[in-house]
Amino acid sequence: VTSRRSVRPPSVDSLARSLAGTGLPHPLLVRAARQAIAADDVESAPAIAEATRRSLLQPVVNATGVLLHTNLGRSPVNASVEGSAYSNLELDLGTGARGSRQNAVGPLLAEACGADAALVVNNCAAAVVLVLATLAAGRGVAVSRGELVEIGGGFRIPEVLASSGARLVEVGTTNRTRLSDYRRAADGDGNGVDAPPVAAVMKVHTSNYRITGFTEEVGIRALATLGLPVVADLGSGLLDAATPWLPGGPPAWLDGEPGARQVLADGADLVTFSGDKLLGGPQAGIIAGRADLVRACARHPLARALRPGGLVLAALQSTALAYLRRDAAAIPFWRMATIPPAELRRRAQILSGTTRWSVVDCGAVTGGGTLPGVEIPSVGVAAAGDHRSHLRAAEPPVMARVYEGDTICDLRTVDPGHDDHLRAVLASAPVGGS
Ligand SMILES: *Cc1c(COP(=O)(O)O)cnc(C)c1O
Repeated sequence: VTSRRSVRPPSVDSLARSLAGTGLPHPLLVRAARQAIAADDVESAPAIAEATRRSLLQPVVNATGVLLHTNLGRSPVNASVEGSAYSNLELDLGTGARGSRQNAVGPLLAEACGADAALVVNNCAAAVVLVLATLAAGRGVAVSRGELVEIGGGFRIPEVLASSGARLVEVGTTNRTRLSDYRRAADGDGNGVDAPPVAAVMKVHTSNYRITGFTEEVGIRALATLGLPVVADLGSGLLDAATPWLPGGPPAWLDGEPGARQVLADGADLVTFSGDKLLGGPQAGIIAGRADLVRACARHPLARALRPGGLVLAALQSTALAYLRRDAAAIPFWRMATIPPAELRRRAQILSGTTRWSVVDCGAVTGGGTLPGVEIPSVGVAAAGDHRSHLRAAEPPVMARVYEGDTICDLRTVDPGHDDHLRAVLASAPVGGS
């Protein structure tokens, strides 16, 4: 009897209470305890609780060298909220009447890219859907066959277009599309018997791949001569190709990336872009351009379903103000992207001097489906072997990359405030001498 008693599992409650050190709320500990007992493996309870704790959102040190890392929330943002504050989210402080949550941030972004007006939604996919639903529901949208792209995460232009209620009218070929192709589509020639009239032309920035060789595409200026609204889905969200917020002007790695200001100046009626790619803000989608069209988007019933929350708008406002102040240092993405390699080398030498990791030249990338194949010269520390799981187990976790059998920590994406933590984690990694 005594022996049977000793193998009896502990009560769920006492097992849950034994896990209190994880800091998780009691119901989650009860869940972990139940799971362990159900699996007839009481010993696994701490690991289950720990896995739950590790699944919570938490800061991560990004040593991958990918500035906009999709798995790490794309662009880094300062998302601190002051106390438990209310805000004037939908209040006009002048009149005391109800205002619009779009009134604060939209005009700042419009100013920063030379648009008449701008509207913020949840992401660029939502921006595209809202624009197409507003301009072309039940009618045709002409898009070059060379721009029917998949951006990643299931964003495929033909499917997004269909979900807006607009009808895709394919124009040209994969590698070559001419203005005459668009003109024929606009005139309805060859669009099929049931084809609705074409209501807009959309040009999609092929953000994440390049077509090279025997190619031809039609620029915004030429498209603007067609007499239809021209929408440019830019995705990546470079506000201005002249980068007035960078003291040294545009870096070489930005060559060829279209800026919203230039695309609007060339005659696009609306542009759409993400908040968390090259804009360096929180996840959002921005629609900018002609005031009447932006207003029509804002009035569409879908706008209510796609509207961003106050936390996002507050973070985006900080980003927009930083652009208007030309203060790239206040935008983490631009701060990190433009650190001189010599500065990264200095930090790498300090890390290397106190660990068995060595200084290495490497190439960072913008990532997030932007600027394919473009590297930004960078410096990091490296050690032979794959140490990623050791680094990931740290608190906060450190994400590195493995290249040709070496683990590399690229310092371009690491905030210098994390260097001490990184040094401790690197020093404790089981790196062999040679
Ligand atoms: C990234 C991208 C999108 C999707 O943006 P999300 O903000 O992720 O929804 C749409 N269009 C283009 C051209 C893009 O590059």
